[in-house]
This record gives sequence, structure tokens and C-alpha cells, in this order.
Amino acid sequence: AGAGGQAAVSAALRTLHSVFGYEAFRGEQEAIIEHVIAGGDAVVLMPTGGGKSLCYQIPARVRRGTGVVISPLIALMQDQVDALRALGVRAGFVNSTQDFEERRVVEAQFLAGELDLLYLAPERLRLEATLGLLGRGEISVFAIDEAHCVAQWGHDFRPDYLSLSLLGERWPEVPRIALTATATRATHEEITQRLGLAGARHFVASFDRPNIQYRIVPKADPKRQLLAFLREEHQGDAGIVYCLSRRAVEATAEFLTRNGIEAVAYHAGLDPATRAAHQSRFLREDGLVVVATIAFGMGIDKPDVRFVAHLDLPKSVEGYYQETGRAGRDGLPSTAWMAYGLQDVVQQRKLIQSGEGDEAFRRRAAGHLDAMLALCETARCRRAQLLAYFGQEQGAETCGNCDTCLSPPETWDGTVAAQKVLSAVVRLKRERGQKFGAGQVIDILLGRKTAKVIQFDHDQLSVFGVGQELAEAEWRGVVRQLLAQGLLAVEGEYGTLVLTEGSAEVLRGRRQVPLRKEARQAAAPGAQGRA
Ligand code: ADP
Ligand code: ZN
Repeated sequence: AGAGGQAAVSAALRTLHSVFGYEAFRGEQEAIIEHVIAGGDAVVLMPTGGGKSLCYQIPARVRRGTGVVISPLIALMQDQVDALRALGVRAGFVNSTQDFEERRVVEAQFLAGELDLLYLAPERLRLEATLGLLGRGEISVFAIDEAHCVAQWGHDFRPDYLSLSLLGERWPEVPRIALTATATRATHEEITQRLGLAGARHFVASFDRPNIQYRIVPKADPKRQLLAFLREEHQGDAGIVYCLSRRAVEATAEFLTRNGIEAVAYHAGLDPATRAAHQSRFLREDGLVVVATIAFGMGIDKPDVRFVAHLDLPKSVEGYYQETGRAGRDGLPSTAWMAYGLQDVVQQRKLIQSGEGDEAFRRRAAGHLDAMLALCETARCRRAQLLAYFGQEQGAETCGNCDTCLSPPETWDGTVAAQKVLSAVVRLKRERGQKFGAGQVIDILLGRKTAKVIQFDHDQLSVFGVGQELAEAEWRGVVRQLLAQGLLAVEGEYGTLVLTEGSAEVLRGRRQVPLRKEARQAAAPGAQGRA
């Protein structure tokens, strides 16, 4: 660094010490901050908890003028601004939650040069009034937080972000820094291109979180499996349990509490006061478990979250990584644990098909789900697979700290089993024109004369009872893996199983089907049976 660079570094360090109270920069923070203070544009890819905020907060303090932060997280702005003010940083925000008077005060402060940081929701930049306001003040830096929102192929696309490219055109002399925790190559490229950041320097931090142990177990009786996991490994620890539905959240929180583990619920259906109370208890107390829908955790900064558990399958690897990334920010050993089963796959595929959105949206969602399933079904190191997904291939193929490394899954030749499942699906379709889900197929293979089997004469099928060599849970595993491998698909609101192009190859014996053996020991003691 030249003389200017030296001055920038020492000003940045002074701010780090005196304002934020930290000893030293972490990772690439120093290089990023120096670059932005010197007026350079930057694209920053850093995992959640990596310390992105300081990368624009410090330049905003050191450079003349106000740092303008574009963030979609309106609900967090008040907290962020409060936290900054407590440190003596002059911060304000403008968003739709404010009344006219509150907004006027913040705008006046900005124009008077009395703000270090001004937080804005992206939709405000579509208003000429906002652009006019920014034009009349002095801006030190534009920070575009959650920059993956600009990417059509991201999991969180927001059209408002597309208008952000005009910042560079209107304020060519103001440095821009785009930040995200999503680092797939496609997203990275879209951020660079759509925000007009071709000339920016790129800072890509490692996405590895070596202290987090990744584990994915077959779902049998998820609440009991969770309870066993907590009792054995995380008694008295703080953690987050994610469920998809509010009902599951309530039921799980209650179940844990009844079984001696203190847990509270958190979802969008609770009134704001209860939600705030539960969140602040989680932050304050030791060892509280929050059972939540994905609404919980964004921007929450609790370093000693010892585990994150998923009772339902996340919709994307990005989501999974972000949620599990809330564990172990203090660097101490933590666990990312998930129970995953056939029903998850069927349900999510159904949701995608029956959900809103155009064909392109559906294809995108299906792609995200496929990547998530591949992570669940892999026999490879989970961490290697995760990092590869984020475009960060590592030298080592085994991390020694995930379930597949700790107890490598056995694989078996599932070709014959797959053919049995697929044949049953063919017969059901051919003979009846009726629609049946995985449950009926498995009952037929096992030779079970259930009411529904009798009703449709399925005990007369040639495949009836041909699958006695495997147990029900194992058949569910076969079906699940076939779905994950694209050798079987689901259709319609009842989750009807249907064949794919790949199925034909398997049925004709042209394609082998290696399957992962179900880890029987992973089921909680006394929890076998219900799948
Ligand atoms: P991100 O936005 O990347 O998820 P944050 O900016 O919220 O991460 O930072 C995560 C946590 O790390 C915060 O508690 C923050 O105060 C802390 N932190 C960031 N930089 C440093 C540093 N240089 N030294 C110590 N703590 C830091
Ligand atoms: Zn591993």
C-alpha cells in the first residue's frame, strides 16, 4: 500500500478499535476495507457470520459523507441502527414502516451530513424522490447487502435489485461494495454483470465452516430422533430447530418442553410481542432451544448456537447452508443435524408443481431441490459436496467431520430393487389409470393386503409380494433415492409416482442403480417403525 493506503489502514484500524472494540481484522476484511476507502468497487462473497458488515461500516466512517446501505431486511433495520447508535455511530434508516415525520427527520440528518450510515430498502430507489434526496447529500459509499437478490437464478430474487445498476451510472465517483453469503458461480456472475461491477475487485472468502459437523439421518420418528440427539450430544445447549410448518413448530416446541428440554416456538403466526420475547430470551439465556420456521435467524447474532437441526428438508442448498451457518459462529464445535425422509421429497416436489410461478420459476425451484437432494443422498463427504456446490472445490475429499466421513455409508447394487419399484409403478398405471403414491407401491411390494390393496385388486398384480427381502423403511429409502436420482418422479396433488426417461433404462437393464444403505443405527432408540 502507498502512503494513502497506509493512512487508510491506520484510520480503519483506529475505527475498528475505538468504535467497534475489536482487536484485529478478520480474514479479508482489511484488504476489502482498504480497497473501498481508496474508492474502489468490490464484490464480497463471505459466509454468514464472516463479518461483512464492517466491510462497509468502517469505510462509511472513514470516508467523507454518508454510507448508503441497500438492504432487503426491513424488519432488521431498526435493530441494526440501534446497535450502531449504541456504539456511537450516527445511523438512520428510511423504509415503509416509518411515518412521514420520522422519515423527514432522517432525511434532514442525511442532508445536513449528520449520518455515517443510511439504510434503505431497495424499492425506495425506484422513487425519483429518493434519488433526488441522495443527489442533494454527500455519499461516501454504496453498500448493496444480500446482493444475491439481484440474481434470477438465486433463491431469493427481487426485481427491485435490478434497478441498482443505475447507482454506478448516476454516482460514478462513489465506490460500491456488493456483499452476499451466496457464492455459486452463476450467482457471482450475475451480481457482477447486473450491478455493473465488471471493474470491481472480487474478494471470495472460504465457505468452509470446519467447526460445524454436518449430519443427515433417515427420518423415522423425527421428534424422538431429535430428542435423542439433543439428550446425547447437546443437553443444555442453545440451538435452533427448523420445521416447515407453523403446526410442526408448535408441536415440536411443546414436545421438547414436555421432555425436559426448554424450547420456545417462533413463526410468523405468533403475535409480534411473543415473537420478540422469544427471540430476546434466545439471545439472553443460555441453553434455550428455538423451534422455528425459516423466518427465524436472519441477522441474529448469537455466537454460541451449538446446533442447528432440520426436521424438514430445506428448499435449497443455499438455504440449508445459511441456516446451518447460524451454528458455531464462535468457532467452537457445533452440529448441523437433519432428519430427511421420503415424505420430504414427495411433499416438496408437489409444492413446486402445484405452486405459483411460471415454468422457468418451477424449473429453477426443481433445480434447487435436486441439488439439496444430491447433498442428502451423497455417499461422498458432505463438506466436499457443499463446497463444490459453492464453487469451492478443495484438495481434500474427506473432512473427517461429517457423517459420511465418520462412518462411510455402504452402498449396494439396488438395480433389482429399483426394477421392482418401477415395475409396480408401471403396472399401477397400466391396469387402472388410477393414481397411487409411494405408500401403495410399497404395500404391494411387501405383499400387504390392506383395504386399499384389496379394493383395487392389487394383490392380483404380478409384483404383489415380490419385495419381501427389504423392510418397509428400506423400501422407502429406495424410492427416495430413485426420486433423488431422477429415476422416478412425482406428479399431481396426491404425489402419484410416475416414470422418467431414466426409469426406462433401468427397467431394460441398461443402467445400474447404486444405492446408499440406510444407516439403521441413526434412528433413535425405540423410534423404529413409523417411517
Ligand atoms: P455477516 O454479515 O457476514 O453475517 P456480521 O457482519 O454480522 O457477519 O459479523 C458477524 C459477527 O462477527 C458480529 O458479531 C461481528 O460483530 C463480529 N465481527 C466481525 N468482524 C470482527 C472482527 N474483526 N473481530 C471480531 N469480531 C468481528
Ligand atoms: Zn466429510
